[in-house]
Amino acid sequence: MTDKRLPFTKDQLEAIAAKVPTPFHVYDEGAMRKNARAFYEAFSWVPGGFVNYYAVKALPNPYVLEVLKEEGLGGDCSSYAELVMCEAVGITGEKIVFTSNDTPAEDYQKAAELGAIINLDDISHIAFLEKTLGGKLPEMLCFRYNPGPLKEGNAIIGKPEEAKYGFTREQLFEGYRLLRDKGVKRFGLHTMVASNELNADYFVETAQMLFDLVVELNRALGIRFEFLNLGGGIGIPYRPEQTAVDLAAVGQRIKAAYEKTIVANGLGPIRIAMECGRMITGPYGYLVSRVLHKKAIYKNYLGLDACMANLMRPGMYGSYHHITVPGKESAPKKVYDVTGSLCENNDKFAIDREIADAAIGDLVVIHDTGAHGHAMGFNYNGKLRSAEVLWQGDGKFKVIRRAETLNDLFGTLDYPGLRR
Ligand SMILES: *Cc1c(COP(=O)(O)O)cnc(C)c1O
Repeated sequence: MTDKRLPFTKDQLEAIAAKVPTPFHVYDEGAMRKNARAFYEAFSWVPGGFVNYYAVKALPNPYVLEVLKEEGLGGDCSSYAELVMCEAVGITGEKIVFTSNDTPAEDYQKAAELGAIINLDDISHIAFLEKTLGGKLPEMLCFRYNPGPLKEGNAIIGKPEEAKYGFTREQLFEGYRLLRDKGVKRFGLHTMVASNELNADYFVETAQMLFDLVVELNRALGIRFEFLNLGGGIGIPYRPEQTAVDLAAVGQRIKAAYEKTIVANGLGPIRIAMECGRMITGPYGYLVSRVLHKKAIYKNYLGLDACMANLMRPGMYGSYHHITVPGKESAPKKVYDVTGSLCENNDKFAIDREIADAAIGDLVVIHDTGAHGHAMGFNYNGKLRSAEVLWQGDGKFKVIRRAETLNDLFGTLDYPGLRR
């Protein structure tokens, strides 16, 4: 089994820790850029240019969005705050896809104000949007498709009919007919039915499903599509023995499907987009923590100064996150449960994990925290949310979010004695 490498040395991490209290998340800018370029290269064949709309929820930090914007990425937003953050960074217009569900009116208004591509989650939202925008629909609209039981039997996809999102197949035909009759001129189609998927076949199947639908919708309604959004869901190898999705191969296979279905039916050119979040930043984030305590009872515990409030995935989903002890790569190993301090027994980053036998005070790195890491943080047990750092290589780094203080935590309480 190969181990996961760090882009920084122990001394470099200690240099950050001298300025920023542990725990903190650190993101490798160079590696994010390199990955984004390879992704775009894989889809450079797309007519009109490929865009990945970064799912902002994965790592909502404007400094990271700036980096991604420079690499040509757009923003996939699902809330007012995410729209505002994209606006602040200068991601606006059709560089935003707004894919929400159970959406408040003001969110739709903000999305329309920014000129975002609005992706509706339900057929009833056509009327809701029209009313919200004062009786006028945007010139361009997109629907989210939920294939439901039509995809049953495909273990990869799971069960779309249990998912709350999107239009049924029948509703798609009805919805686009309604749009056409209301004078909408530009059409998009979207689906998003997987998460953290490492099997490349899945993405090719999704593309083929949408291409086939475009042909059918064109035949039934006479409308042409200009925008197809294949969704996100490209997984990352959290475990050292897993392999990343071969983006170049996926790009070529989708190109073949596009030619066979879209081009052959004379329906091109259609812009193809994705909205991956996890694979864009996930592998390039690291939660850096220190060993506070070690205890030996019925099991051996390594107690960190980070907890589930800094990274919820292991406790919430039982997810694997690799853990290394910088500087102790060849030290003897020992089996530990690696814990945080919440009053919750599922506050464990790893259970029965063989890792280097760290000492109290050692730095411990939890890998692949660049998506749904800091973003899913919370303040339970009075835990303060951590700082975020952008690693720029050669020992250079930038603090892109300071750590919270007690004043931040108590900021919404008007009560004597809580101000520091
Ligand atoms: C979360 C989400 C994504 C991103 O999914 P990843 O698994 O991070 O690629 C894309 N689109 C929508 C609508 C989402 O909710």
